Amino acid sequence: MASPPVPSGHTVVIVGGGLAGLAAAATLVKAGFSSVKVLEAMDRPGGRIHTTKPFGPDIIELGANWIHGQQGNPIYHLAKEHGLLTEGTETVMCLPGFVTPRDYFFHEHGRQLPVELVEEVCSFFSKLTDKAFEHALDEKYTHKSLGDYLDEEFKDSLWANSKDSKRVFEWCKRSECTDEASSSLYELSASELGLYTALDGGFFNSLGPGGYQHILDVFLKSLAADVLVCSKPVKCIQWGLDKKEQASEVAHPVKVICEDGQELHADHVIVTASLGVLQEKAPAMFEPSLPEVKMTAIKKLGFGTVDKIYLKFNERFWPEDCVGIQLVWEEGFEDKEVLTSLDEESWKKAWYKKICGFDIVARHPTVLCGWITGREAKHMETLEEEVIGEVCIRLLRSFTGWKVPDPVSVLTSRWWKNPYVRGSYTYIPYGVDAMKQQAALSDPLPSSTCPPKLKPLQVLFAGEATHVKFYTTTHGAYLSGKREAQRIIKHYRHMTPWYCS
Ligand SMILES: Cc1cc2nc3c(=O)[nH]c(=O)nc-3n(C[C@H](O)[C@H](O)[C@H](O)COP(=O)(O)OP(=O)(O)OC[C@H]3O[C@@H](n4cnc5c(N)ncnc54)[C@H](O)[C@@H]3O)c2cc1C
Repeated sequence: MASPPVPSGHTVVIVGGGLAGLAAAATLVKAGFSSVKVLEAMDRPGGRIHTTKPFGPDIIELGANWIHGQQGNPIYHLAKEHGLLTEGTETVMCLPGFVTPRDYFFHEHGRQLPVELVEEVCSFFSKLTDKAFEHALDEKYTHKSLGDYLDEEFKDSLWANSKDSKRVFEWCKRSECTDEASSSLYELSASELGLYTALDGGFFNSLGPGGYQHILDVFLKSLAADVLVCSKPVKCIQWGLDKKEQASEVAHPVKVICEDGQELHADHVIVTASLGVLQEKAPAMFEPSLPEVKMTAIKKLGFGTVDKIYLKFNERFWPEDCVGIQLVWEEGFEDKEVLTSLDEESWKKAWYKKICGFDIVARHPTVLCGWITGREAKHMETLEEEVIGEVCIRLLRSFTGWKVPDPVSVLTSRWWKNPYVRGSYTYIPYGVDAMKQQAALSDPLPSSTCPPKLKPLQVLFAGEATHVKFYTTTHGAYLSGKREAQRIIKHYRHMTPWYCS
């Protein structure tokens, strides 16, 4: 049965043209909304999806790279439907934390670590994190950080007395920090990790030669040319303009004011700016201010930084069977004792100790990609690319002992410095009730505590951070945008007669 049409003439403004914003716009347009605008601050759509071509015709992803899971993953299904998934030999696994016998683990003194030891410790580590993700932790860990849980289990394990095992375990924790976008695993809640839902099927599905840009293109093609406006940062959202006695005279309850002074009037505004942007700008961005419960959620949820460091060489210097060069320190930053003894000067000086390693890159036989996270990633963003490149080459030479040439090009992402992103993705800090805070974050305004006369659904919130099960991911972002669009659509389809009139 066809859905009833939505009444025309309602204006929806979407702040942000990342995946959440584009998904919201596409859903509204498909449902018959004719007045939809997406205001994007940057000069390109996509947000944390950023497919570039700095090294020739083949793509480099500065942001999202993989599709996490297959079953029930709308991005996977969309990619499959449009023939965008990679095939056959192009499926190269090159990500932090993915261990195969072909990952080369080097100790800082130039010694290669035995494959069996690395495999055993990494597989033990995976079992421990799987338990946390499956919500199957012993009760004693309910109020512990992820780092403390892992340390306690390691202490009682077969590997506890081997120095090399301890060092590899430290590498595993460093790698997990990259997945979680946290500075350390002691910042993360062990028990809340289970709220994130990993979807079945290949966990790291790769896209074909068009990368994530081709996913964006599917949405962009479904929108008329004038829907998306780039280079249009929004400064302020005034809502509740219908709060006065003469509410019925107010044509639109929300006004969006752009940095360039342009004003747009709307019935509904969907805000998809990242949690990092909200943490920095929400106090000045909304008039009246956001309710306290939402501000608390914005402050309490975590938004961490993960960056990539691409090194392009003239020729490959690593063996053909090597998919990654992983760096194992004598004393790494993920060791709790080391971590707690570090002052700011010390960790800034040795920021590079947070780099997990350097992985090969699909379709680029002479490029390596390094990963770094947390406060050290933010510090790296303050340095020149030339300096970062020199440090990385020093590391590669001293760890491997190989003849490592100078790179011909260095390219780093700078997600923290980007004023319209301010980090990479969401994490749940230790002690935070994820469900409660994410529900508060996604609750539309006016909320139940606002004056009863206000028109409903004036400001809605989407974006990766608002998805309880799939935060951090592209499918979480997509589903959150669709959720808020459908909230508006449903509202009109079930509209009460007083509001119709
Ligand atoms: C390095 C990195 C690697 C990642 N890897 C993966 C991966 O492999 N797989 C995966 O599933 N996910 C990955 N992610 C996460 C994924 O990219 C995000 O979850 C997703 O793209 C977020 O989409 P979004 O629409 O919620 O937010 P965003 O993409 O941040 O979109 C929000 C948009 O709002 C705009 N904006 C902000 N402020 C304003 C304003 N005032 N006015 C107008 N516009 C504004 C921004 O410019 C931005 O375009 C990765 C992210 C990073 C950074």
